[in-house]
Amino acid sequence: MVTTKLRTSGTNLSRTKVHNLRVVIEVIRTQGPISKTEIANVTSLSRQTIQYIVAELQSAELVELIDGEVKGRGHPGKKIVLAPTGAYTMGIHVDRLSTRVVVCDLVGNVIWNRTERLDTLDITTANRLIETVCLDYFSERPREAKKMVGVGIAAPGPFNQTNVRPDDLTNFQEIGTQQNLDDLSSKIGLPVIIENDAAAGAIGEHLHGVGADFDTFVFLQFGIGLGAGIILNGNKFTGSSEIAGEVGHIIVEPTNGLRCSCGKSGCLERYLSVDALCRDMGLQIEDIDLMSKLDAMIKKKEPSLVNWLQDVAPRFRQLVNILEMTIDPELVIVGGTVPRSFLELLIELSVPLYEPLNLRRQGRQVKIGTADEYVVAVGAAAASAETHFAPALTGLIL
Ligand SMILES: [Zn+2]
Repeated sequence: MVTTKLRTSGTNLSRTKVHNLRVVIEVIRTQGPISKTEIANVTSLSRQTIQYIVAELQSAELVELIDGEVKGRGHPGKKIVLAPTGAYTMGIHVDRLSTRVVVCDLVGNVIWNRTERLDTLDITTANRLIETVCLDYFSERPREAKKMVGVGIAAPGPFNQTNVRPDDLTNFQEIGTQQNLDDLSSKIGLPVIIENDAAAGAIGEHLHGVGADFDTFVFLQFGIGLGAGIILNGNKFTGSSEIAGEVGHIIVEPTNGLRCSCGKSGCLERYLSVDALCRDMGLQIEDIDLMSKLDAMIKKKEPSLVNWLQDVAPRFRQLVNILEMTIDPELVIVGGTVPRSFLELLIELSVPLYEPLNLRRQGRQVKIGTADEYVVAVGAAAASAETHFAPALTGLIL
């Protein structure tokens, strides 16, 4: 993989100093504790360059030296690890009903979290809430705030697309416009990036959940709508225009399908999503207690809801089949803001799934995510850290 290689191999050209710094951080993050000699071997950078970069990272308090393991009689060499308290990022998951916020340290530990209710889903309210929560944190934890390098927002996408209708309930694209991100950034005083909620969930699962053991997987995000985040060979896959994973808009009813907010008819999201469930069962999507009500209904085995899940189970089965045949993932992870009981029953009613071509995966094609309700916010924080620290092709070219 070009991208994987790019992330761990440096160059000795002076104009690529920032790239080299990022490459060394990436190698320490993924392979630490690691010695300078080992970093030089992995990155193909000279020992002198590594010496210089590590000294620089140490003075920025981003890495620490620890004693290596004693092997035989030799003196244990020093190993390098990331310093958890070296930098922090904030992740904010803006959902239709609530906003979950986390602050993560440099190694991804959540050191602070908060959930706020979003009473109305309009851009002014959401921006005000984001601004308030950031400024509250800065005054509450000034020491960490000084080392905060960026804020990642995750929201239902897609963003900056021309074909998404303003009345799309499952989408919140206004928050992701460059203008809005720039405005937020100047108010907060930090770089602000946007990440699709499903992609952020995939990143969060990859770092802290079931996805940690897999290099290629799909994370299905059941929020109000339905989307997927794709991790391909260890990297987030976004497609050519950042809409890869918009599985909610796969047409599953080519004739006489229900009209979708994207302009097409017969999209999967019109049948398999909380939005569809609310329409079908006459529930209020604006109800801030909707998810706990769904949980209670499932636990009571409320026939109307069980029947609804039974009806949509074939669509879920078909979706898993489409993903398996297109992407060949090691696993499909299911998560989102819906109650865990909802996902458990949906899977229970959907098995047996279509037989996979790779028979070794039979019976373990789908799993519920293990990360908690903050998984998307953690992924957003990681995405912010990624733009700040990870090596990228653009960093080399620009
Ligand atoms: Zn659609």
